[in-house]
Amino acid sequence: MGLLSDFCERVKQTALAGGADIVGIASIERFDHAPPELHPRGIFSHTRSVIVLGCRMLRGALKTIEEGNYWQAYNCDSYQYINEILAPHMLRKVILLLEDHGHTGVPMHNPFGFHAGRPVRPGGTKPDGGLSLRVIGCAAGLGELGRSKLFLTPQFGPRQRMYAVLTDAELPADPLIEPGAICDDCGTCSRACPAGAIPAQRTCEVRIGDRIYTHGPLDCEKCCVVHTGWDPRYSPFVTEESTPDNPPGYYQFLQHRFRHQSICGARGCVRACMDHLEKTGRISKQYHTPMIEGEQWTIPDSGQTGS
Ligand code: SF4
Ligand code: SF4
Repeated sequence: MGLLSDFCERVKQTALAGGADIVGIASIERFDHAPPELHPRGIFSHTRSVIVLGCRMLRGALKTIEEGNYWQAYNCDSYQYINEILAPHMLRKVILLLEDHGHTGVPMHNPFGFHAGRPVRPGGTKPDGGLSLRVIGCAAGLGELGRSKLFLTPQFGPRQRMYAVLTDAELPADPLIEPGAICDDCGTCSRACPAGAIPAQRTCEVRIGDRIYTHGPLDCEKCCVVHTGWDPRYSPFVTEESTPDNPPGYYQFLQHRFRHQSICGARGCVRACMDHLEKTGRISKQYHTPMIEGEQWTIPDSGQTGS
């Protein structure tokens, strides 16, 4: 094994030891088709490789929302813990290794990409620009895009969060995954999404190298209403008195404790998709308890429950 391969392997092992479940490398050439405002060199001009790390969300945290029993685990694990604690920790471990070998690494956390302010020089991009972690995941050969717009991997389907390190180290890129290798366009996510936010037509295209990955144009406004728990058919917490100015006490607790309120619990885009991919054997991780057993719940007497 050459010195470069040895170092690349150390980088990957450091990511895995730091808490990542999957790790891959994208060369900067994989972003040749990216618009300037979404190009890694708009963040760090010397980027030669992008190290991409994925952390699985705990399956049980999704399962208890599927059962309609318990929301805190998902909000804590998938939003606060992975985003705020685990990701900065593992990104830092990888970057310290790079620094010890004379390289520079820039951590890309989630969420990011505000495009705030204005360029500091003529022709520049706006500061604090964003990169699509889904696209970066594809570029590192870790997975592909589903119809739902979520990033799917051969191990976990849609059940991970993605992070990246931009570095001036030139590392060997991993092979790309073939579009359609995971998502069979079954439409389960569209049918199970309570907001009707996942269209069937895969009109959005992302070109990486010689591959074109596609997804449906997710309606983020529709998603947001259900995701944050304002549809009483899919939230046991809202009441007739609930308004954004007078939110349920439970939502205030979630915001205070975990800085997030995911109430939909990704019923269609994650839970139903996972269930389909697990049951059809299209992903490798298999479990004794199915994600979905029978019909998914909908509250019939909406607006009369909660506290
Ligand atoms: S539910 Fe089916 S169509 Fe939707 S992303 Fe998953 S595999 Fe693709
Ligand atoms: S979070 Fe919920 S509402 Fe939003 S796309 Fe996923 S299933 Fe639909």
